[in-house]
Amino acid sequence: MKKAAFFDTRPYDREWFSKLDKSFEIKFFEEKLNPENADLAKGFDAAIAFVNDTINRSTIEALAAGGVKVLAMRCAGYNNIDFKAAYDNNLKVLRVPVYSPYAVAEHAMALLLTLNRKIHRAYNRTRDFNFSLNGLTGFDLHGRTMGVIGTGKIGQIFIKICQGFGMRVIAYDPYPIENAGFEYVDLDTLYRESDAVSLHCPLTDSTHHILNADAFSKMRTGVYIINTSRGGLIDSEALLEAIKSRKIAGAGLDVYEEEASFFFEDRSDTIINDDTLARIITLPNVILTSHQAFLTNEALKNIAEVTISNLEDFFAGKELKNEVCYCCSTDSPTTKCN
Ligand code: NAD
Repeated sequence: MKKAAFFDTRPYDREWFSKLDKSFEIKFFEEKLNPENADLAKGFDAAIAFVNDTINRSTIEALAAGGVKVLAMRCAGYNNIDFKAAYDNNLKVLRVPVYSPYAVAEHAMALLLTLNRKIHRAYNRTRDFNFSLNGLTGFDLHGRTMGVIGTGKIGQIFIKICQGFGMRVIAYDPYPIENAGFEYVDLDTLYRESDAVSLHCPLTDSTHHILNADAFSKMRTGVYIINTSRGGLIDSEALLEAIKSRKIAGAGLDVYEEEASFFFEDRSDTIINDDTLARIITLPNVILTSHQAFLTNEALKNIAEVTISNLEDFFAGKELKNEVCYCCSTDSPTTKCN
């Protein structure tokens, strides 16, 4: 029977992957996949990994040397993989392109509502029998302008949610959709006119730090920033400065550029040695969630089903519809061969 080594296992992963029928065996490891522990997968046919695993050339070479032929990512994003190394080592990479765009879009709106209506502060106050409303004033979302960067699967659902609140939506995407039902603008216009900006684009070389000091300087004073996509889209130091200078009224962050050392772990008994993260967390107008936007039962079920069917297809020699590769088919997300 084929065997798969499952890295970065959490109880909810084990629950969903264990209950589904499959033709191969899974061994669960709690460690995040990285160059130091990749040899745990020695003798396995497949490795199953997640967003914050370190899948660089060393990891890939160790996996391949141990006999692993396929890497099944149980997520949509793949910015943590060295695709050239995967290609060089004949390691196929599969992913789950969609599991629940609703989960992420709804979480983005939850962050905005919490920030704007200060629900996090009200919750803490009333638990302490403090029923004062001072400092809890928000504004009506109705009639306000939401700027959306990236109008793919999640962005489009988020836009519908915003429109349901009576917001005007403006968006930027280098690949706009036709008959969109909202207005596309350039980034400068989006920065100038938005009361809140939400990121729904992938992390690539061209989107790294798309929100930086220059972008913040072009925004309205009092804007909210929402990021449920990838931490590297925001220059965290610049964000901190813009919040301290009161340019930005608050930020709802589900991701952080240096999250890999912290997120998904209980670090409550350690001193956080990332000063930017530590400072951001102290701010009353920042809500930080630990990359949990995807975390719904529907998404977990889809992730498990698609990951298993991706591997079943690979083991059966079938067409790999969810392959991401360095230079293969023309519709692959990373087609460039150099
Ligand atoms: P998608 O591929 O459907 O859409 C991404 C969109 O971004 C596309 O329309 C693309 O044209 C656009 N884009 C590309 N470059 C851009 C740029 N420079 N500026 C603006 N837009 C650009 O992806 P999706 O399913 O909507 O997911 C979006 C992102 O959400 C993913 O890349 C991933 O990083 C993130 N995500 C986060 C979680 C979470 O739990 N927090 C879960 C799933 C996905």
